[in-house]
Amino acid sequence: MGCFPIKTVLVTGGAGFIGSCFVRQLIGDGGYRVVNLDKLTYAGDLASLGEALEHPRHEFVRGDVCDAELCARLLAKQRPQAVVHLAAESHVDRSIDSPADFVRTNVQGTYTLLEAVREYWAALGEAERETFRYIQVSTDEVYGSLGSTGQFTESSPYRPNSPYAATKAAADHLVRAYHHTYGLPTIVTNCSNNFGPYQFPEKMIPLMILNALDGRRLPIYGDGNNVRDWLFVEDHCDALRLVCERGKVGTSYNVGGHGERTNIEMVTAICDLVDRFAPGLAHSPCRSLIDFVADRPGHDRRYAIDPKKCATELGWRPQLDLSTRLEQTVRWYIDHREWADRITSGVYERDRLGLVESR
Ligand code: NAD
Repeated sequence: MGCFPIKTVLVTGGAGFIGSCFVRQLIGDGGYRVVNLDKLTYAGDLASLGEALEHPRHEFVRGDVCDAELCARLLAKQRPQAVVHLAAESHVDRSIDSPADFVRTNVQGTYTLLEAVREYWAALGEAERETFRYIQVSTDEVYGSLGSTGQFTESSPYRPNSPYAATKAAADHLVRAYHHTYGLPTIVTNCSNNFGPYQFPEKMIPLMILNALDGRRLPIYGDGNNVRDWLFVEDHCDALRLVCERGKVGTSYNVGGHGERTNIEMVTAICDLVDRFAPGLAHSPCRSLIDFVADRPGHDRRYAIDPKKCATELGWRPQLDLSTRLEQTVRWYIDHREWADRITSGVYERDRLGLVESR
């Protein structure tokens, strides 16, 4: 991180999919000390940290962002120059089944962390207060659904449609308020759908890869024409680092890589890659496993990010194209079957979640 007033970063949710990638990058690039606060829910896994886990500049703390006393104690002891808040309940289907967990972690947890950070930041010297950063890692889902044209910009109105998106939106609003009311140097990032290694297999891309490998049905919600704007996780984490380094306080950044695809396009591409990289499967071609199932309640039709601000202000863009990244990802899940089997074992059977019973 260039000008480098930041040496110690408190990362929350750093054992999750995106958080672990971010921690691996901060540790791998050298220079940073990372304090990693994570509750290790079903979605958190220390193995996803790889060599960063035992690195002398990495300290893992198992704990809950809703624990005010723990947040205050950690900040006072570790003295970070930046806090990057990723900890969240993150799966839309689960938010339909149990919104309470989402309200607790995503809203109450963000509030609790913000309060602790506000107190810590207010007691810093003037120069440290100036360079301190609080980064809220959020999603494009807060903007709701697009029609067939247009893109979300940083000034698009918030119109969340799922309980997940609503809790992320509420948290973003709190962050904004803490900047305007208390002067806390905050920045919000709103990123599109991520994919890559170590993503919990309830999410569409790893679920489809693993089901295709196992000859299980590939459940496509609705007509399969919902559009998501896909971004490889390492590119997202590059953007987060640039935001810490050069982002303008009190603003937000949309992060996306022009990766718009319909779900059916993504799934057929995955099928073809599985056929190619795992030849000889009894059930191939894997496209024969595609199964159109009941749509997700309130399913947003289309997301698309306008990443101009990130590109012009931060000089960010994705390093490789989407099809190369998808190839790498399919290969990774084929090569890491034991990881996927272990993380899901006993907690997730790849069954359908998030269907509201009709009354
Ligand atoms: P994830 O579900 O893979 O990981 C979440 C991590 O947070 C897990 O390690 C979990 O143990 C931890 N956690 C959950 N509740 C906690 C609590 N109360 N206290 C401390 N730790 C807790 O999620 P992800 O996909 O890595 O997403 C990370 C962040 O990025 C989230 O805030 C999410 O909203 C946001 N985001 C995700 C995407 C995406 O496509 N995955 C896109 C944009 C933004």
